[in-house]
Amino acid sequence: MKGRVLKSTGSFYQVQLDSGVVECRIKGKFRMKGLVTTNPVAVGDWVEVELEAEAEGRGMIVDIAPRTNYLIRRSTNLSKQAHVVAANIDLACLVVTLAAPPTSFGFIDRFLVTAEAFDIPVLLVFNKVDLLVDFPEALDEAVQLYESVGYQTIRTSIDVPDSIAALRARVAGKVCLFSGHSGVGKSSLVKAMYPHFDIRVGDISMAHMKGQHTTTFAEMHQLPDGGYMVDTPGIKGFGIIDIEKTELGLYFPEMKELLDQCKFYNCKHLNEPGCAVKAAVDEGLIPPTRYASYQAIMQDDEGPYR
Ligand code: GDP
Ligand code: ZN
Repeated sequence: MKGRVLKSTGSFYQVQLDSGVVECRIKGKFRMKGLVTTNPVAVGDWVEVELEAEAEGRGMIVDIAPRTNYLIRRSTNLSKQAHVVAANIDLACLVVTLAAPPTSFGFIDRFLVTAEAFDIPVLLVFNKVDLLVDFPEALDEAVQLYESVGYQTIRTSIDVPDSIAALRARVAGKVCLFSGHSGVGKSSLVKAMYPHFDIRVGDISMAHMKGQHTTTFAEMHQLPDGGYMVDTPGIKGFGIIDIEKTELGLYFPEMKELLDQCKFYNCKHLNEPGCAVKAAVDEGLIPPTRYASYQAIMQDDEGPYR
């Protein structure tokens, strides 16, 4: 029987089947190509379950379906072993605010790079727009900036019911993750969308993972619209991943298509002659803040995950 893993505690897994939730153990060994993981099965995984005849509500996970994407964490950048936090995520909603508190473009861009590397679609949620009625240009500019490079955006305020309904429609039926700095309004938005739904929303940033233990387990909560919200208690951020600096341009969608037009095949798009990316920046085709983020990440020894 096919089911989806909602929760894992390390040795037990709660799996949602059509007939209800069953508690499962794993039978056999599952390995992912090229990845040494501390946990073979993660929240969000689609698995094949064999029910145990003698114990009702219990089963064995006997197979795991290929993942469309997954988030992993390492305890250190050099750590060989990774912990798979969650798999098959449909949407990461990054909640940002231009004021109270301001979210920097640098932070947004690092998050977007990480999400590109994990292959997770992002919806940028510009929240607290009620605080910006006197500065509409700043909001328009930020929204246009990210739409121009290919990201989905939405403007919300917990005081504007239509915006809450619109956000709810965007996440309906999806497995989603709510991320963003503390104080941007993640919990308020979730509460506004689902008044009778009581979950705590953490401050996931896809950053700040270094030095943290990798033993926390995520959990998926079913939403009233049929989707799920992934909760990652105690996890402040995700790190991966060994992005080669020469590959960083691949994770900026507006640069990606230009990369084969640079004069040098190993162009880092910093100061090389004949660089198509720099030319596009000069022509105003790549937003200056995006290129500044690219430069900052390139100069950063630790990669984009801070
Ligand atoms: P979280 O840390 O991201 O979960 O943020 P909270 O949901 O706890 O919200 C932080 C503060 O921002 C609270 O005082 C909320 O009332 C406030 N807040 C959340 N959304 C909005 C909004 O759309 N407009 C305004 N003005 N305040 C908001
Ligand atoms: Zn170049």
